[in-house]
Amino acid sequence: MNTTAPTAGGVIDRAALPALFARRGQDTHKGSFGTVGVVGGGPGMAGAALLAARAALKIGAGKVLVGFAQEAAPLACDPLQPEVMLRDARSLLEEDWGVTAWVAGCGIGTGALAANTLSELFVLRRGAPLVLDADGLNLLARGDIQPNWGDGPVVLTPHPAEAGRLLGIGAAEVQADRPDAAWQLAQRYRAWVVLKGAGTVVCAPDGGLHINASGNPGLATAGTGDVLAGMLGSLIAQKLPLDQAVAGAVWLHGAAADALVAQGIGPIGLTAGELADAARALRNAS
Ligand code: AMP
Ligand code: MG
Repeated sequence: MNTTAPTAGGVIDRAALPALFARRGQDTHKGSFGTVGVVGGGPGMAGAALLAARAALKIGAGKVLVGFAQEAAPLACDPLQPEVMLRDARSLLEEDWGVTAWVAGCGIGTGALAANTLSELFVLRRGAPLVLDADGLNLLARGDIQPNWGDGPVVLTPHPAEAGRLLGIGAAEVQADRPDAAWQLAQRYRAWVVLKGAGTVVCAPDGGLHINASGNPGLATAGTGDVLAGMLGSLIAQKLPLDQAVAGAVWLHGAAADALVAQGIGPIGLTAGELADAARALRNAS
């Protein structure tokens, strides 16, 4: 299986991410910064989709929509982020909202509605980049959805247990050689792979490997993965070069947690929802 050796590309740090800190032109409008579509939030899990959507907006997407994997959207409006448009997944997928990057799987669940929704998204995305997270990866591992995701880049964001399910091995085996696990997944799915955890590994479809230098154990709390997925979709929608967008979101997410810890907001008790404001401040500060 391991046909070509992956290339060790080094460390992801601030200096490697010029696109993340590029200034915005004056003559721009919300259409200049893309539209993110978040597909997730099954019954009882609406918060996962909202965390992704809020993070996508706060690090600079022009517009953000959520399609809940439920028969009807469980709320009409996000009271903390009323700028986010809320729909049920069917209406998000069946109308053309001009989505320029999709984030799918956050809290979507593993039932038939989740599987059908994702399979439909793979067809309807028409080449727009796709970030697939969480139960989207678990459905893939179970064979309940197929990786027939058509043209356009795909970014898979497993934590070690999800990576193990996809590879048919245990999480400990993944952790024993994280770069190799990421590379195996990148080859198998012809996708970018973000293997999460301390020292997140980013592997390009061609085997280019990078290790993230930011982040801390404050991130070991519910919802931080959803926030990362939203950040990935956001930077991709904003048309950063794909390698800068993927590495940039991973670094920014960790750096936001580092900034919160420096302010005494963590590591103990850091909450996922706090990351987006910290990440926004970092993007604007440079
Ligand atoms: P998830 O497990 O999907 O909620 O994702 C957790 C997020 O937090 C990922 O981005 C991980 O890389 C990050 N994370 C969790 N624990 C740590 C840690 N000890 N050090 C650095 N990052 C972490
Ligand atoms: Mg997760």
